[in-house]
Amino acid sequence: MSLSNLVNNLIANASLLLVGLYIISRLTNLGMTKKLPLKRQVTISLLLAGLSVVITLHGVLWNAQADFQYGFVPIIISALYFNLPGVRITYVTSILILPFILTDTLLLIAFLDYTLAALAAVVFLRFRERITPARDIRIVNAISLGFITLFSLLNVSTYDHIEAYVMTLMTFVVIGYSAGFVLHIVYGRIHKIQRSERLISKYKEEAFTDVLTGLGNRRRFEEEMRRVDEEVFKGTQEVALLLLDVDHFKSINDTYGHDAGDAILVELGNRLTKTARTDDMVCRNGGEEFSVLLADCTLSQGFVIGKRYLRQIAESPFTLPDGSFIEVTVSIGISSTSESKVDTSSQLIKQADAGLYVAKQSGRNRLGKWNQKKAN
Ligand code: GH3
Ligand code: MG
Ligand code: MG
Repeated sequence: MSLSNLVNNLIANASLLLVGLYIISRLTNLGMTKKLPLKRQVTISLLLAGLSVVITLHGVLWNAQADFQYGFVPIIISALYFNLPGVRITYVTSILILPFILTDTLLLIAFLDYTLAALAAVVFLRFRERITPARDIRIVNAISLGFITLFSLLNVSTYDHIEAYVMTLMTFVVIGYSAGFVLHIVYGRIHKIQRSERLISKYKEEAFTDVLTGLGNRRRFEEEMRRVDEEVFKGTQEVALLLLDVDHFKSINDTYGHDAGDAILVELGNRLTKTARTDDMVCRNGGEEFSVLLADCTLSQGFVIGKRYLRQIAESPFTLPDGSFIEVTVSIGISSTSESKVDTSSQLIKQADAGLYVAKQSGRNRLGKWNQKKAN
């Protein structure tokens, strides 16, 4: 084989590796990290096994040899990202597939190749406490290429000329190192992007969460209202809104202290969340005011749910930090997108607010609607 042929084939082989790894990491939403759910780790390990086999097959078809190709790299990548379980899945799966596509010496060589890579990875993992895949790719790539070099020496007798062997080995190592370097850079970038994406979603989550109760805050409520404007009013779905306000909360604070007030808010948040369905959105709009947006809900269903909330809050007392109990009630205002005068989310909120006023005026611990004279 001429030198240019050899270089072409090895570059094609290394490119296959880089493209394969890139596609797998994109398919998995840039998510090759040990923190992934088990099912995804297994899927990615299996994909890596498939990539190993494809690269080996390419090496055999174009180079007619199984030692100088980069099929072992995905096994090492699997080890770096998913530790021993990863290397086990990728290694075992790939050597189970090999007998279907290779025979005799080629099979033996590829088998030894994969085994050396798996061993190199396992030994590496034993000595490293904290794996940083992007950087470690470089080290492991070097170790693997060293192993393959040693191993290929056992195979040197199959070459007619020692010069041909040396040339092949040198080309393989140079391209192997270059590919490892490119991989290191690509994964370095991917990790940076991943880290910033994680940070952004964490900050976003925090910005939309009420610190005391863990519920959505006013910002989340407003975002939800924008969604109602965009989706609900333009579609056929109906939603109902409950606005809740704790009764006489100021005097609770004055009598039992601010900490007791806070504990009540936390427990109220828990009770509201427990009763809500998964599609309902519970928020603390501010102070002692909460909201529940009832998804796919008619006005009459909203009345039933609102009454249920009243009972669940009034019927069992709340626990204070000192272990004593206190009776708490709330007043609720209800509105619905099915009402004729409600065309926007701000009208929806206004009507619920008016309903809350009616409930308070009618004596509290009630569910009120804007056009009622008296709530009950
Ligand atoms: P009403 O039945 O008419 O709603 O009476 P109220 O006392 O609940 O109403 P008001 O709006 O006068 O009082 C609300 C109180 O809620 C005043 C404020 O000190 C208290 N509050 C607001 N936010 C918090 C909080 O985060 N923690 C505690 N402990 N109290 C809060
Ligand atoms: Mg209030
Ligand atoms: Mg109040």
